[in-house]
Amino acid sequence: MASITLEGLRKTYAGNVQAVKGVDLAVEDGEFVVLVGPSGCGKSTLLRMVAGLETISEGTLKIGDRVVNTLEPAERDIAMVFQNYALYPHMTVYQNLAYGLKNRGFKKPVIEERVQKAAKMLEIEDFLSRKPRNLSGGQRQRVAMGRALVREPAAFLFDEPLSNLDAKLRVQMRVEIRKLQRRLKTTSLYVTHDQLEAMTLGDRLVVLNGGLIEQVGTPMEIYARP
Ligand code: ADP
Ligand code: ADP
Repeated sequence: MASITLEGLRKTYAGNVQAVKGVDLAVEDGEFVVLVGPSGCGKSTLLRMVAGLETISEGTLKIGDRVVNTLEPAERDIAMVFQNYALYPHMTVYQNLAYGLKNRGFKKPVIEERVQKAAKMLEIEDFLSRKPRNLSGGQRQRVAMGRALVREPAAFLFDEPLSNLDAKLRVQMRVEIRKLQRRLKTTSLYVTHDQLEAMTLGDRLVVLNGGLIEQVGTPMEIYARP
């Protein structure tokens, strides 16, 4: 795992829309940081810049010691978990997990080993032959996480991964992600507008407002103020 460092990060969209106005943030190696804030505050833009899905207008982005500003997403050694699962419906769970590794040219024995390891970790090893449509919402979410896990990246990015789930499942998955985090000590940057999710998951919370950091602290420091 590796740290993620943002120095003076800015994003100005066409029409002079300043979505992110200069953000300094260090996600330490093994730390789980949650970005929270109201709709339109720039969370998604910030995460997408880290992922490489959006260009950086100004500032420096590092993964570990490496400046990755201009690297393609695939070269950044980070994996992103999306909210809509992004699973391939015509492929089995195994094939969904193996796909990204296969594309990156990993050899079959390595792929098998990593898929089995991730499947075991996520307790989906009994569903490897199923198609996504024959899984429950929670199982699908775990497969989506599995696709990130098999890559064994330096860091994980989460873009509101639980927002499409019903309330009960959302609580379950929150616990699931927290457990996984404790076990794997993953460096994670997690975006949500859900305060409860932020409190449960974050080692540290970053409150974003109008493209700027408003507050940084532990869940207790942010939400338990008198
Ligand atoms: P959040 O994820 O917190 O809801 P966003 O990062 O999506 O916030 O948006 C931040 C601001 O940038 C908003 O004002 C939004 O309208 C604007 N914005 C987002 N994407 C684009 C885009 N592709 N072009 C122009 N403006 C955008
Ligand atoms: P391809 O797309 O290359 O044909 P397959 O999906 O047929 O790949 O599977 C390739 C290998 O992955 C198989 O030979 C098998 O070892 C392993 N595999 C595929 N599905 C499963 C599964 N459900 N459980 C365990 N291993 C599997």
